[in-house]
Amino acid sequence: MVDSSVQEVNGVGPKLAEVLDQIGIRSIEDLLYYFPNRYDHYQQKPLHELIHNEKVTIVGKVIHEPTVQFYQRRKSRLVVTLRVDGVVVKGVLFNRAFAKKHFIPGEEVSVNGKWDQHRLQITIDNYKQGSIDESSPITPIYSSKGDIKNAQFQKIIKNALSNHREQIIEILPSSYLKNYKLPERIEGLTQLHFPTSFEHLKHAKRRFIYEELLLFQIKMQLYRKRNREETEGNAQSINMHKVKELMDSFPFALTSAQQKSLSEIIKDLKSPYRMNRLLQGDVGSGKTAVAVISLFGSVTAGKQVAFMVPTEILAEQHEASLREFLPDHVTIRRLTGSVKGKRRKAILAEIADGNCDVVIGTHALIQDDVHFAQLGYVIIDEQHRFGVQQRNTLREKGILADILFMTATPIPRTLSITAFGDMDVSKIDQMPKGRKPIETYWVKQNMFERTVNFIYKEIKAGAQAYVICPLIEESDKLDIQNALDLFHQLQEVLIGKATVGLMHGRLTTEEKEEVMTNFSENKIQILVSTTVVEVGVNVPNATVMMIQDADRFGLSQLHQLRGRVGRGNKQSYCILVADPKGENGKERMRIMTETTDGFVLAERDLELRGPGDIFGVKQSGLPEFKLADLVHDYRALETARTDAIEIVANEKWKLPEFQGLMDYLINEIKIDSKLLN
Ligand code: ADP
Ligand code: MG
Repeated sequence: MVDSSVQEVNGVGPKLAEVLDQIGIRSIEDLLYYFPNRYDHYQQKPLHELIHNEKVTIVGKVIHEPTVQFYQRRKSRLVVTLRVDGVVVKGVLFNRAFAKKHFIPGEEVSVNGKWDQHRLQITIDNYKQGSIDESSPITPIYSSKGDIKNAQFQKIIKNALSNHREQIIEILPSSYLKNYKLPERIEGLTQLHFPTSFEHLKHAKRRFIYEELLLFQIKMQLYRKRNREETEGNAQSINMHKVKELMDSFPFALTSAQQKSLSEIIKDLKSPYRMNRLLQGDVGSGKTAVAVISLFGSVTAGKQVAFMVPTEILAEQHEASLREFLPDHVTIRRLTGSVKGKRRKAILAEIADGNCDVVIGTHALIQDDVHFAQLGYVIIDEQHRFGVQQRNTLREKGILADILFMTATPIPRTLSITAFGDMDVSKIDQMPKGRKPIETYWVKQNMFERTVNFIYKEIKAGAQAYVICPLIEESDKLDIQNALDLFHQLQEVLIGKATVGLMHGRLTTEEKEEVMTNFSENKIQILVSTTVVEVGVNVPNATVMMIQDADRFGLSQLHQLRGRVGRGNKQSYCILVADPKGENGKERMRIMTETTDGFVLAERDLELRGPGDIFGVKQSGLPEFKLADLVHDYRALETARTDAIEIVANEKWKLPEFQGLMDYLINEIKIDSKLLN
């Protein structure tokens, strides 16, 4: 192992060590795993091998005197014509008119920049007179954080690699290296820091991408194993006869996807281990129905159930659906922040005495003073809002009940097996029969009147509408039409024709509840709101979802909002109002009009906006990988996961070939060695 302090490396004194420390480099290992951000290269390739839009280096002869055009006062464009392999190529330099004198007709120059294959044109970043040295190296560029010069990095890494070579021990089993044709650790590290060719660099990257994904997945699988072992003995004896009876009383039959998820959950509840399962399903796919049936199962086993939701509104709505679906003898209580004083005390007592079967509430439910007599099952709705922190809280509180996390955000597989790699996943990827797909339209701001007319027509036919605005407060900078303005505007236009309501995060809980009640009772026909209605709200009579400045939202969020309509049997509509400036925004609007499949949208969102937007904030639980990229490296991820599952299931780390891996897991990944017994 190269655990030794980075100060042991030649060229690293106490002062440099301090700077390195600030960027997280303490050991030699840290230093070697501080990978370059990017690589600069001046490698010349024949014209026909150049790739459009990539950075390339070309050597050619200047054909004639370059031309300069000035425009917009201070801007300039210098055009150089070069003959390269007998072909005429244009080179363009912006705002560097002075460079003209360096391009002398008849002389050879090397230029480097972005290649436009269609125009045979290169936008020149760097140039030098004469040809380039064929053996010119690929130069790694390190992040300059901590003010360390690139050359200095190269120097100390070179020293570390040459003087501490024997300490760099292979951690991957040799059979894996062979199967996947991966370079050994030392060779990989050498190539990452001092690549001799792009081919070698590619394989070196491949190795470390696989390595970091494998280590992460092993960790996840070990947690999963621990979860099972720690909780042995909590089998629930569910009365399946009663569960069937309940299902028969439902006004609908479950879809086969619901059925499958339900049996996976029931199986877990009956098993002697704690369930740790994620139930994924698009809005309206019927997750709640599955949750209700399964929790009833738990109740028939004499257990208590905690049902956690992210907002008070949702707590109320779920309470209503629970009362609708469950038999009267099941005692249901709601415990949220707004339940206070005597009422709260009484409910807490019922929970503690086991006189209450189902408690529904916000995360106040797992806090401090709530003690269950027989907690057997915890359901957490919209799990991404709870985050890893809360997930751990359950364990830390010693709650070993079965846990079901539900999310209506379809999560691309790559993300779900990463952020929730320690969990089992059920997926409802099918909508109940008879649902009419929501028709989605993208309109410009100037079509406001027509849009309002359209909404009014729906309202006259007895339906209702949501109008969503991105922010409550006016922001000069973003020029976002705020909810208040729109509320007043709509009120004015529709005076005497429809009641308009307003909902936003600044309202008190009571006010919010009142607005929501009025909306669900159709006392309000148009609800102008910020995104507080995003999750789980269910008003089946609403058929129009109009979203202002829709391009400010990611696809996943738009999809969530759209899911608020189309919940009844009437045709529903989603109107995206947006004048996006960039291509990305336009693309998102187009995709929304083309598909209603949440999983497709999530995959596209991942490509267009990255993982952060799918989960919202930083609480995603996604680890930060050094090299691996969940969008591009999905194959490596799948391979690593399969291998990790096999390693953990068969305790392969006990084999001599896995010794290096095991040591590394304990010493570097800091995995509790008890997990590897
Ligand atoms: P989710 O929680 O996934 O958003 P819900 O469970 O709230 O979905 O279901 C949405 C609506 O569809 C509810 O009104 C529910 O009663 C209804 N529903 C659920 N499952 C079915 C089904 N299999 N067939 C018909 N309607 C269903
Ligand atoms: Mg729901």
